[in-house]
Amino acid sequence: MIYLKTDEEIELMRVANRLVGETLAEVAKIIAPGVTTLQLDKIAEEYIRDKGGIPLFKGYKGFPNALCISINENVVHGIPGTYPLKEGDIVSVDCGAKINGYCGDSAYTFEVGEVSPEKKKLLQITKEALYIGICNAVEGKRIGDVSHSIQVFCENNGYSVVRELVGHGIGKQMHEDPEVPNYGKKGYGALLKNGMCIAIEPMINMGTKNVKFEKDGWTVRTADRKPSAHFEHTVAIRPGKADILSTFDLIKQVLENK
Ligand code: MG
Ligand code: MG
Repeated sequence: MIYLKTDEEIELMRVANRLVGETLAEVAKIIAPGVTTLQLDKIAEEYIRDKGGIPLFKGYKGFPNALCISINENVVHGIPGTYPLKEGDIVSVDCGAKINGYCGDSAYTFEVGEVSPEKKKLLQITKEALYIGICNAVEGKRIGDVSHSIQVFCENNGYSVVRELVGHGIGKQMHEDPEVPNYGKKGYGALLKNGMCIAIEPMINMGTKNVKFEKDGWTVRTADRKPSAHFEHTVAIRPGKADILSTFDLIKQVLENK
């Protein structure tokens, strides 16, 4: 069941996604070598609760924290812990928040200090892939058009697309229909309609597309332990151009002034 949102609901989703963008910017401020992933999580949870929101991931199917933090070969769903960030790491921070009954979901992969040119390129291409997907997320196209555009762009750059994890519809629930894979066929899948809200989230690997699920029950890592990147926006389908409800602008401001 795909729920189309009214204009009023989309504005509420924008508020929730703004909160997520602000939270990711707070995290961006303190990312540095030596900082533990649990410290990032604490900052995020406090920020969300101070603003009257609820961290969406905490307690979701038993997930213990507010953020999913996935370093280097970890693709997504990493559990914050005592690991201190190291110079050269790449860190995917995925954040979800609910406020006024609506959900926001967005992820950004950060660089810790100076990272290798290979990792930098992986991040750049994954972020670009997200925006290419968003360009295809317009009324009248299909989910497969979004999926295909992301897959082709990443594979043409020599990277691979994770199959086991996908984007999703979002609204009053964090995960609604339809699924939004990062691979697929043009012209296939659900028709995109005005008012649909979806989270588009390419998870792109430097090496093999294959992943393994760690024994902690959550962390997903690449099978060959090569790095993986993840960027996510929540968008509303509109005619002509998607409305991006989440934002990286605040993160950008923080990183430029660091
Ligand atoms: Mg997310
Ligand atoms: Mg998501």
